Amino acid sequence: MTTENCIFCKIISGEIPATLVAESTHAIAFNDIAPKQPVHVLVVPREHHSNVAELAFENPEALIDLVQLGSRVASELSTGSFRFTFNTGEAAGQTVFHAHGHITSRTPKN
Ligand code: AMP
Ligand code: ZN
Repeated sequence: MTTENCIFCKIISGEIPATLVAESTHAIAFNDIAPKQPVHVLVVPREHHSNVAELAFENPEALIDLVQLGSRVASELSTGSFRFTFNTGEAAGQTVFHAHGHITSRTPKN
């Protein structure tokens, strides 16, 4: 998939709407459109990289920033117990080929 027809690039550019939760220098966080847990937020680098492994090698600073953003969102929205998942590759369940982490939690704050 190219950057031009990437759904997450379109969310980052504002072409497609999303419910923004937080943002940082290198990443944005928005609600997953089909939440699988009471807390389900996607944390996405502003730059297009196919998966988290490519992001790690091509822009490690952006990956650190993304993990910090995800951790901040998780501590704001959950009691502090959460999963931070990066599906990598089709056989592992990756459906959007723009790197992203899922923050999921069964224990929302309040
Ligand atoms: P993955 O299967 O790990 O690639 O995760 C892709 C995630 O993106 C899924 O959980 C989808 O529900 C979510 N998703 C797809 N399109 C959108 C969208 N337009 N806005 C928010 N989340 C989306
Ligand atoms: Zn993209």
